[in-house]
Amino acid sequence: MKKIITLATLGCISLSSLAEAQYVKTTDNAYLQYGNGGDRLGGSKIGFVDNGITLRVIETNNDLYKVALSDSRWAYIPKEYTVPTTDTTTTVNTGSWSIADQGSKDRITVSLPRRLAYRSYTLLEPSTIVVELYGATDNSNWISQRTPSLGMVDYVTFNQVESDVYQIVIRLKSKYQWGYKIGYNGNSFTIDVRHTPEKLDLKHLTIGLDAGHGGEYPGARSVNMGLLEKDVNLDIILRLQKLLEKEGAKVVLTRSGDTGPSMAERKKIWRDANVDIAVSVHNNSGGSPTAKGTSTYYKHLFCRPLAETVLNRMLETGLPLFGLVGNFNFSLNGPPEFPNVLVEGMFMSNPDEEKLLADPKFRQKVAEKIFAGLKDYLKQVKSAK
Ligand SMILES: [Zn+2]
Repeated sequence: MKKIITLATLGCISLSSLAEAQYVKTTDNAYLQYGNGGDRLGGSKIGFVDNGITLRVIETNNDLYKVALSDSRWAYIPKEYTVPTTDTTTTVNTGSWSIADQGSKDRITVSLPRRLAYRSYTLLEPSTIVVELYGATDNSNWISQRTPSLGMVDYVTFNQVESDVYQIVIRLKSKYQWGYKIGYNGNSFTIDVRHTPEKLDLKHLTIGLDAGHGGEYPGARSVNMGLLEKDVNLDIILRLQKLLEKEGAKVVLTRSGDTGPSMAERKKIWRDANVDIAVSVHNNSGGSPTAKGTSTYYKHLFCRPLAETVLNRMLETGLPLFGLVGNFNFSLNGPPEFPNVLVEGMFMSNPDEEKLLADPKFRQKVAEKIFAGLKDYLKQVKSAK
């Protein structure tokens, strides 16, 4: 009965929107967005979150829910990654913390009575991973380090930045980060911080490669010659694969022929193989035939050094600079588990660059430059060790 009284007082809000669940629980592959905007890559993503997280719905917006993360913060989530729940969110207290070196990673565990939403980002100089837990208030009386030393983490601490926003700060020993994985183990919140690989030579590393588009998704079509992006991307990737394997690297491809796996499938292939570095190759297309040049892209700041070394080598091909692009919303730049970069070789919509792309010798050169950029990156990390 109480609900009916509330409805009457809300006047302008439609009955149908109020009839929907006020609380939802996340399902597999759920992700949060900052806003409700969308371009061809979708709304700007905060990041993926685990299943089983309860969120209060503030309003519905076409196929999105606007949900509360804390008293003062909200985000959007696609409805398709939620189910209604009778559970209701309240602020919870954090439990004990621990941190331990587990061989190839350092694991940080924060015990919680329920799963909460989170976001993470990285900073450079000093090298830091920041994780925000929404709906958590500090009640942790100690942070126990369980092993005498840690491989990557220097120390951890926290800030209660708002009464219900708990910020975990992880300071790293190395200037170069090697990625991290966040998730829940039951209700325990875990952050696995990857160590820098012990041997930074290609023969000890697994490299994930991705040729953009494929199968029924051709990507861009070049302006005069009708080259399909999916074909040239694959050609460059297969050339790069040969160069890497010649040096003893293990290569994991998201596709080796004319198939079009989904973004989720591509990411799963890399994650399952626990790749050390990942590279996706595309070629660009612009509205105007004058758009030109080569570019590399990253989302997480810790991937910027890799994007830089690859871009610097790509410029040796003689292609002009289109840009070093950060905070990129491309799905395969999303995983924070390993350094990754997207290369947009050149513009297929530009008549001069189209001619270069049509030449197998030039495509070989592109593969060689990406290869050299990867090696430069490894050298940089090694010299900082
Ligand atoms: Zn593309």
